[in-house]
Amino acid sequence: MQRLGLRIGFALVVGWVTAVVADPPPLNLSVAKAAVRDYHDSGRYEADVARVSGWALEWIEERAAAAQPGERLAVVLDIDETVLSNYAHMNEQDFGYVRDVWIEWIARAEGTAIKPMKAVYDRARELGIAIIFLTSRVDPDEKPGTLVNLEREGMGEYERLIFKMGEGIAPTAAERKRIRRAELEQEGWTIIASIGDQGSDLAGGHAERIFKLPNPFYGIP
Ligand SMILES: [Mg+2]
Repeated sequence: MQRLGLRIGFALVVGWVTAVVADPPPLNLSVAKAAVRDYHDSGRYEADVARVSGWALEWIEERAAAAQPGERLAVVLDIDETVLSNYAHMNEQDFGYVRDVWIEWIARAEGTAIKPMKAVYDRARELGIAIIFLTSRVDPDEKPGTLVNLEREGMGEYERLIFKMGEGIAPTAAERKRIRRAELEQEGWTIIASIGDQGSDLAGGHAERIFKLPNPFYGIP
């Protein structure tokens, strides 16, 4: 009987361990936030951004050199965590999102240029390539602050800035952005690069190359 009891106990322990391994609890939120802050503050975030931006820069130069007569080349850029950093705001909010507080932040136009991407913006313009911003910021609520912020950070010259209008034309950012890029192509633009920090900035084609910047802070479907 004693042996049987030990066997049952052993089976229960093994079963419990298996269950824990198969279905681990989520990462502790405070630990996750600390890891995100460390990733940002250590310089690893900017280094990763710089690496991807470098690849984009290389491609843009190569593609510009191979441009055919009459081609209208464009680079499509997302805004948040692509050319403007909201880290100060996110950190202050402890990575929480409150719509009204976010709107106030945008209105203050205090986002800072993400330097490696500012370099991409500058080089593309030097090469005569159109810059088209495609953002999930909403017109009209977020428009004035966005215009001021881009100007203030040296990115106020562009072909077009496409906002989300009200509820938008599609249920997800991915679908809305795909539709907008398709429209740009219909207008005659050749989108040589699409650059963003979310998979939803880049999914669905209508760009020769896509470049995904890191974003450990939030996700947008
Ligand atoms: Mg973004």
